[in-house]
Amino acid sequence: MTNNTHPKQSNFWRRIPLWQKILAGLALGILAGALLGEDATVFKPIGDIFISAIKMLIVPLVFTTLVVGITSMRDPQKMGRIGARTIGLYLITTAFAIAIGLLASTLFQPGVGLEMSFDKPVEAKEAPTLVEILVGLVPQNPVDALANGNIMQIIVFAIGLGIALTLIGDKGEPVVRVFESFAQAMYKLTEIVMAFAPFGVFGLIATVSGSYGMEVLLPLAKVIGVAYLASLVHVLVVYSGLLAFLGRLNPMRYLRGILDALVVAYSSASSSGTLPVSLRCAQKNLGVSEGVSGFVLPVGATINMDGTAIYQGVVVLFIAQLVGVDLSLMDYGMIIATGTLASIGTAGVPGAGLIMLSIVLAQVGLPLEAIAVVAGIDRILDMARTSVNVAGDLMVTTLVGKSEGELDLNIYNAIDEASNTSLK
Ligand code: ASP
Repeated sequence: MTNNTHPKQSNFWRRIPLWQKILAGLALGILAGALLGEDATVFKPIGDIFISAIKMLIVPLVFTTLVVGITSMRDPQKMGRIGARTIGLYLITTAFAIAIGLLASTLFQPGVGLEMSFDKPVEAKEAPTLVEILVGLVPQNPVDALANGNIMQIIVFAIGLGIALTLIGDKGEPVVRVFESFAQAMYKLTEIVMAFAPFGVFGLIATVSGSYGMEVLLPLAKVIGVAYLASLVHVLVVYSGLLAFLGRLNPMRYLRGILDALVVAYSSASSSGTLPVSLRCAQKNLGVSEGVSGFVLPVGATINMDGTAIYQGVVVLFIAQLVGVDLSLMDYGMIIATGTLASIGTAGVPGAGLIMLSIVLAQVGLPLEAIAVVAGIDRILDMARTSVNVAGDLMVTTLVGKSEGELDLNIYNAIDEASNTSLK
């Protein structure tokens, strides 16, 4: 081997845009899992290292981005407006999501004609009350919140600190500069970790695709298909529609700009874990400001779970069909109301939606034991719902950014060039 083959190889690797490498990792991972079966778990450590590396970014990245975002906004009223719009849009899209899930299951009837037995007892979870959610928002000890990665409490502290730094003016300048510099370093570190994403995604997907045999998937293929279809419709119709009509933005640019985040969400099944990637997509590919993305995305990763809401709608009806129970109009209203609350209470970690399903089932009197039927395929459903969860956060971030004049249209409309910049 001569000395100059090395630089050439690395140039070739660098010239391929990151999103293409990540997609290739996804495709090769599925293939490796299909060919190797259970043996594909040898690649699991690669995926685990990648997930740990992005999780490592979450707390410092969210904290510094948000403090910098608030201090650069210099307008407390604007903060209130952004907060109200964010929560409003999150709630509306979630209600739409459950409705679409219910509609899809009503149309395609995935549970009709299936014979499944289940007898393992399951305990119902309680939905958190609004008061509990509010009380839990304020950290008693910010260091504790940072150490435990409690995103909502970190957001509250960062907003407080940002406002205080703005209010003390010049005296706050040195601290603001430290945060700005820290935030820049965190963006760089995110890029470095993302350069590893194609391998990480490969490791994660190979493991999942290797451990699910057809004998598990086939009997439930219909409910998987309905959940995936409803998810696709939600993203393509509701999100694209809102972007086009409310934001007057080209939805294709949005879809193209969020690709990295979608693939990482799909392979990791964790919207909190995907947060660093979502922040990067929002700022670099879509052109949303640090202030808006630093607030809207972490809030979304904690409370906005449209994919989980769709899943609740689809699966609750699926179970009703399976056990032959006819639901009344009241029940449907109940499912939409509790499903929305349950999705807010769902943590952005793998498998959380499955646990929250018990709340909705209990509410309409369906047997909780039926959860066992979908538990076997939960990862497959989780990957789809997490992708929608992340897509929803990014859609709302884009809309709020646009409405506040915090969306750089030059970046938004030039996504092809922007997302081609891999690690420099
Ligand atoms: N895994 C999902 C997420 O991280 C939550 C869920 O299980 O529904 O967004």
